[in-house]
Amino acid sequence: MELDTDNLGGEAVNYETFLAILAERVRARGELVEALNVEPGAPGALARFIDNYERSREAAPADELSLIIKCELSSKLRSYVDPWLSSGLSADGSESPGNRKLPAKPVQTKRTPGNWANDLLDSVDYDTVRLLGVLYDPEGHADNLCKCRLAKCGRYFLKTPLRRYSLANALRSRYQYGTFCCLSHQKLASASIATKKQRSESESALIEFAATDLLSYPANRRDWRQDAKYKEKLAGKISGYIAKRNLYSYRTQVTANWVNRRLPRIEQRRLELAAK
Ligand SMILES: [Zn+2]
Repeated sequence: MELDTDNLGGEAVNYETFLAILAERVRARGELVEALNVEPGAPGALARFIDNYERSREAAPADELSLIIKCELSSKLRSYVDPWLSSGLSADGSESPGNRKLPAKPVQTKRTPGNWANDLLDSVDYDTVRLLGVLYDPEGHADNLCKCRLAKCGRYFLKTPLRRYSLANALRSRYQYGTFCCLSHQKLASASIATKKQRSESESALIEFAATDLLSYPANRRDWRQDAKYKEKLAGKISGYIAKRNLYSYRTQVTANWVNRRLPRIEQRRLELAAK
């Protein structure tokens, strides 16, 4: 069976080759994710390792070397993948994988062969270019490679399309709070976003209340911002407002200190209200 497909470089390939290429793409994506999820090494760690053992490379501990290579590979891959992933993020915190912009392709450094250190660095470069190939393969479906946006997680993963065979739809998707590796991380992140939003709304309401109250502050008295007694009284009124509006999730009461820390915001709002 012959398949003429533009996806595979425009050459007619037989069915087995076609399947093999697909399998290779799936495998490469998995390998890329695995390599990215290794904690990257400290800058220059591989160079220091090479320095330490250059004179007797046989002395280089194999397990340490293998780990250090994985860490180096991860930081190289991340230096391309992270900006690419971030280019799909919007200022409002949403994420649209379809909008990502590819960075320039990595180039393989030319080194003199036959040298232990050079061979080692070459192998890391080779793997970097090979695995990043997934990103540049137009049929590689790299857009479903995502990073968990829960700050304490940050795991790389392949996002399953929402509906079967609708990868194209999934790629056009916009994720309101970004992409998450699992439902529980999504819930944690959206709960924390909701809490922050609620806190900021409560705070704005209290500032509005304080600024409105200040409109009745006698004009012949000194600047209210220097009036400790008044600020004390204002804090009491704000606490009363918290009770009335049931804003206990923000805090149960505020003190003059709370007012002091928000003087510029309250004053700005007071001036806006007074100008109306
Ligand atoms: Zn996660």
